Amino acid sequence: MHFDSSRVKSDGKDKKVSLKKKQTLHFVYLGSMLELLNLIGAELKPAQDGHWLDQIEPATGRVTGRLPRSKKADVDEAYSAANEAFPIWSVTPIEHRAACLRNLAALIKQHSDVLAHAESQDNGKPISLAKSVDIPRAEQNLAYFASAIEQFSSEAHIPAGPSHINYTHRKPIGVVGCISPWNLPLYLFTWKIAPALAAGNCVIAKPSEITPVTAWMLSQWVLEAGFPPGVLNIVHGLGPEVGQAIVEHPAIKAISFTGGTATGAHIARTAGPMFKKMSLELGGKNPAILFADCDFEKALQTTIRSSFANQGQICLCSSRILIEDAIYEQFRDALVSKVKRMIPGDPMLSDTKMGAVVSASHRDKILGHIQAAQLEGATLLCGGHLAEAPNDRCEKGYFVQPTVFENAGPDCAINQEEVFGPVITLQRFHSESEALQLANSSNYGLACTIWTQDLGKAHRVAAGVESGIAWVNCWLVRDLRTPFGGVKASGVGREGGWSALQFFTEPQNVCVSLT
Ligand code: NDP
Repeated sequence: MHFDSSRVKSDGKDKKVSLKKKQTLHFVYLGSMLELLNLIGAELKPAQDGHWLDQIEPATGRVTGRLPRSKKADVDEAYSAANEAFPIWSVTPIEHRAACLRNLAALIKQHSDVLAHAESQDNGKPISLAKSVDIPRAEQNLAYFASAIEQFSSEAHIPAGPSHINYTHRKPIGVVGCISPWNLPLYLFTWKIAPALAAGNCVIAKPSEITPVTAWMLSQWVLEAGFPPGVLNIVHGLGPEVGQAIVEHPAIKAISFTGGTATGAHIARTAGPMFKKMSLELGGKNPAILFADCDFEKALQTTIRSSFANQGQICLCSSRILIEDAIYEQFRDALVSKVKRMIPGDPMLSDTKMGAVVSASHRDKILGHIQAAQLEGATLLCGGHLAEAPNDRCEKGYFVQPTVFENAGPDCAINQEEVFGPVITLQRFHSESEALQLANSSNYGLACTIWTQDLGKAHRVAAGVESGIAWVNCWLVRDLRTPFGGVKASGVGREGGWSALQFFTEPQNVCVSLT
């Protein structure tokens, strides 16, 4: 691999910055168990108070390692390292920052097999999904924001016959916090740190304690990629402890958070009165709206994917399937017959399409939603139970059958609360306006999918749906330049493209007299 070097100009001096030589992976094993460490400054280290958390493989229920249970003292130390690095990193030439991001992207690519294996083991997702989606997208996130920062620009306002000119100076914010969830671990972790670093900030990042391994692997390549010590710090531990310490640290100026709506509300209550910049990407209860004139086969195949990919644990998954009356029975029967054939398998096997859900507590939460739906009178069409272990290795794993309900009213809990698992409901509609009414009868507003061959209708429905994202005749197609985020209880702010770079910079208007 070719590593670049470049020059950093600071305080009028030219300083040669060499990118570190390639390091050997030094994953630490305790017997057959992994021992994860925090990255603080240039050091990989345990939590200051020496406490640990178990790391569990969802497909087997086995403890596979341990991670630091970091606290406020560790965040304080990470803050000192980040704050020390900021004066240089914030004025580091854009080409150099971009080169560091590209180097890290290249290291992800180089280690993509080991990362995919780790992601599948840590999360329970099929290894084929980790290989085709999670790890390539983590690489793309870094590579994309390396290019984006090179193209980023800001505005100037020049009146006719000018006596003054105004321009917007977009400055890095300072030390920022990035907190990410467990469902797409490295994918969402890099989606946050890449724009933050590209824009010249120093970062304290916390991956979910449930799926920390790939972020920890990444932490071993940060210096090798050329980032100066302290620019990116990665602290592991529990949300209410180390996450909370990041959010309430008085000198961390912005929080980029992806996770559940209740956690987002809690973070907003803490960080709001401190006037921190916040981007909150939260939960969803996404409708798929199928009109009778849709391409039936394409809509069917994609709806199965949009409902059950990653065991339904993607914030963009469809969970409320709204079907026009004329095709309701035909679509329901075709869907249920296919879903009945979807059997969860060992995530580590290359032909597995559906794996384990992420934890025992999440499995129990999903089963609780299923039971509550039945008590509310919803009709169970398939699934509804624990799935059989696919093999001896997975005997103690967390497997849930893909589950389909009908006859649940729009106000039922199963149509209102985010399950974040392989559970969907089918509802019937008779008109475009009724479809919209059902789609919008939710507190959430992240994404929707619209299936029709009539693009005029698709446009009208997209305009009427309260969501940050609308897909027409497709799902999960992402162009990283587009704004990404939700409305209502799905969050505030937008990530992606210029939106992310704008979030991670502070605009200052500069007015210059020309006379
Ligand atoms: P959580 O809200 O439980 O956790 C998200 C992250 O926040 C984790 O790193 C967690 O740490 C941390 N955290 C928890 N409590 C606090 C706190 N008080 N202060 C700071 N950080 C805290 O979400 P999940 O991990 O369960 O993820 C699933 C949720 O994420 C779903 O609701 C899903 O819809 C949403 N999501 C939204 C996306 C979007 O783009 N809108 C994309 C993907 C998921 P720990 O794990 O240690 O508890």
